[in-house]
Amino acid sequence: MMIQRVRGFRDILPGEVGRWRTIERLAAEVFENFGFKEIRIPLLEKTELFARSIGEVTDIVEKEMYTFIDRSGDRLTLRPEATAAVARAYLQNKLYSIQPVQKLFTIGPMFRRERPQKGRYRQFYQINAEVIGVAAPTVDAQLIIMLLTLLKKLRVSDLTVQLNTLGDGDCRPKYQAALARFLESIAGGLCADCRRRRTENPLRVLDCKNQDCQALLEKVPTIHDFLCAACRDHFNTTCNLLNQEGVDYHINDRLVRGLDYYTRTTFEIQTRALGAQSAVAGGGRYDGLMEIIGGPQTPAIGFAVGLDRLVEIVDAQWAAKDRRPLVFVAALGDAAGQKAFGWVNRLNREGIYVEMDYSGRSLKSQMKQAGRQGAEYVLIVGENELAAGTVIVRDMTASAQKEVPMRDVINLLRGIGSATKG
Ligand code: AMP
Repeated sequence: MMIQRVRGFRDILPGEVGRWRTIERLAAEVFENFGFKEIRIPLLEKTELFARSIGEVTDIVEKEMYTFIDRSGDRLTLRPEATAAVARAYLQNKLYSIQPVQKLFTIGPMFRRERPQKGRYRQFYQINAEVIGVAAPTVDAQLIIMLLTLLKKLRVSDLTVQLNTLGDGDCRPKYQAALARFLESIAGGLCADCRRRRTENPLRVLDCKNQDCQALLEKVPTIHDFLCAACRDHFNTTCNLLNQEGVDYHINDRLVRGLDYYTRTTFEIQTRALGAQSAVAGGGRYDGLMEIIGGPQTPAIGFAVGLDRLVEIVDAQWAAKDRRPLVFVAALGDAAGQKAFGWVNRLNREGIYVEMDYSGRSLKSQMKQAGRQGAEYVLIVGENELAAGTVIVRDMTASAQKEVPMRDVINLLRGIGSATKG
């Protein structure tokens, strides 16, 4: 039986890659305009990095990680997200000693063993941006603005920004205690997942998708009544900066995000273009993360854009067109084939895209292939031309052809190549 790909994984075929590349290039361009630099981190990390940072009681760590013991007995995990790995890289490479404030981005695959469905994969791609070393709400607002700049550049429609705060180590525990008391009073009506979350990770009950749970939460206490002065200030300043810059957002006090390490600002960008899977990006502040993974207290904030979903919703106009060969060399017979091989290699090396036939087919089928590939010119060289030391150059658009001496071929093609490029 033919071997199939792993369930929940996907192939991104040549026809689709253009759109991916365009988005990746635009993201890098926009982020670099905001002063971000690219970092590339491994796909594999020690399991402990994610278990500690994301939190033991999260769907990701409990049931979605691809974890294995390698031959030397280390427990390793295919990264389910990038933030913890970027944080580790920041600490391990002492990036703070070069420049305490680091604005970093990275693009690549993440792995989570979720139930595969439309728009949800087990290997999916994210564009991540992180600002490490700044506590001020200025960067909270700036990150949201940068993200919107990218999405607007890609003409993603119907964008909404959901904004919330989760408080910090000072005020969040007080809120969690009040929340736990409230959840106890409605425990009987909660779904099975929420009954478990209620004791293990009560904040996660707030964003349960179950309608019955949401109805029961109507009178749930809100974090905004529990914020300490510093967290309230931080949130208000973020809002003010967004107002000042004309950013439209909704405060959503049930937005908690899936991972444990978030503090203060959290946000999500949704678009109706996606239907049910509406979040195209999410992020927030994680001032406690560095300490959790063994570093000094360092404020930080970041976001992740779901690249698979973005590719799905951006307009087809972003699909880069297949590159067309400038010239197709149609050669007949071995001797002509060898000559053609020399010309093709020479021009390809010089940066001119030239194609040829590899299987000695008839002139008719080589002409057909040239047409299918969209070649602008075809060079025809057979026994007669070889004997006469000439080639036929056919202009496919004008349907006109002329004979030129073989020794002029390379210069002629170089001329056409540079005229087309210019
Ligand atoms: P998260 O890291 O869970 O905050 O996710 C950030 C973004 O990544 C989400 O808003 C989604 O767009 C995208 N995403 C998360 N999980 C998946 C998945 N399994 N398949 C495709 N995209 C995903």
